[in-house]
Amino acid sequence: MAAALTVSARLDINGTRPPCAPTAGISLSRQDFEVHPLAEVETLAPETISTGKVGLGSLRTGADSAGGAGWHSSARHAGIDANLVVGHRNILLITLDSLRYDVARAAHVASRTPNLSRLLPPSGWEPRHAPGTFTWPAHHAIFAGFLPKPAVPGRPADRLFMCRPTAGKTIHAKTYVIEGANLVSGLADMGYRSVCIGGVEYFSSRTPLGSVFPNMFQHSYWSPEFGQSEYDSTRHQVQKALDVLEAAPDTETPSAGQPLTFMFLNVSATHVPHAHYLAHPRQGAPEAVDGWESQLAALAYADRHLGRLFDALPSIGPWLVIACADHGDAFGDDGYSGHGIGHPSVLTVPYAEALVDAR
Ligand SMILES: [Zn+2]
Repeated sequence: MAAALTVSARLDINGTRPPCAPTAGISLSRQDFEVHPLAEVETLAPETISTGKVGLGSLRTGADSAGGAGWHSSARHAGIDANLVVGHRNILLITLDSLRYDVARAAHVASRTPNLSRLLPPSGWEPRHAPGTFTWPAHHAIFAGFLPKPAVPGRPADRLFMCRPTAGKTIHAKTYVIEGANLVSGLADMGYRSVCIGGVEYFSSRTPLGSVFPNMFQHSYWSPEFGQSEYDSTRHQVQKALDVLEAAPDTETPSAGQPLTFMFLNVSATHVPHAHYLAHPRQGAPEAVDGWESQLAALAYADRHLGRLFDALPSIGPWLVIACADHGDAFGDDGYSGHGIGHPSVLTVPYAEALVDAR
C-alpha cells in the first residue's frame, strides 16, 4: 500500500519539509529521516495512500471503524470499542522490542515495511509514550493493560483495556475492563487461550526472572532461535505462531468449542544486536555497528516474516491486532546509548491497532 507514497519524510523541529520524497528502494540514512521524537506529527494526506485489502481480508483501522474519513490526532484512538472485541475476536499483540518511533516511521514512509504498513491508518504509526524504559517494566505494564499512551498534549483518557480500577478512576465507554490482575489472565478467564511467542531473554524461561512472563500464559514458547542474537529469529517465531494457530485447540482450553486466542509475540530482531542486518561493508570499510540504520534494516527483515502471519489471520477468524514497541533505544542521541533511560528516543514508541475480519 505504501508503494505509491509520495510524502515528505523529514520533519525537523522547525517543521520544514525536504523538497524530495523518498521512494521504495532508496538507501536510507538516519540523516534522511531525522525526526525529533517529540515534534508534532506530520499528518499525511489520506489520498496519498491507498488502503484497502492487501491479503489481510477486510482490514480496518481505528479511524475507519469510527466512520471517520481521516485519521486525526485528536481522535486517533477513538475508533475501536474494546467491548466489541473481547469475547468476539482473537487478539494479536506484537511488541517490536526496542523499536524507535522515528525508525518505524521512516521505514513505513520509504515502503520498507509493507506488511506492518497494512495495519496503519493514513497518518502512519502513531507516536506514543512507552510505559517503561526497558523490557521488564514495559511488559509488566502492557500486560496489565497499560498500553503506550498517545504522545499528545492533554490527558488522553481512552484506553483499550483497563484492569478494574480503584475508586476515582474514570472508565471510558470503549474501554474493556479486565476483571483480573492482568490482561493475560483476564482474557483467559473470558475463555481465551493465551499464547506467548517469546523473543528476548525476559521470555526465555532460562532463569527465574525469565520465567515470570512466560508463566503468565497458558502456552509459552521460546528457543534460542527466537532470541535477538539469531539472525533469522522472526522467521522461527512466526513459524511457531503459525504452527500454534493452525493446530487444533487442545483439551485443556477452558471454553467449549473453538476458543478465541490471545497471542502475544515479542519480536526480538529489532533489539540489539542488529548490525548484521546491514549489507556487508566493502572491504576496508569500517565494521557495521548497531544503530538507527541497522534497526531499520532489522525491522524490514522482521516485516517480511510478519507478513506470513498477517496473511494467515483471516482464515482463523476475526482479529484485533495491536503492534507497538515496548520502549525505544538511544544510539548516541545527545550522548545517550541504550535503553533503561528516560531519553525521548527511548520513551517515544510507534503504535498501531487494527481490526482484521475473517475471510
Ligand atoms: Zn524491550
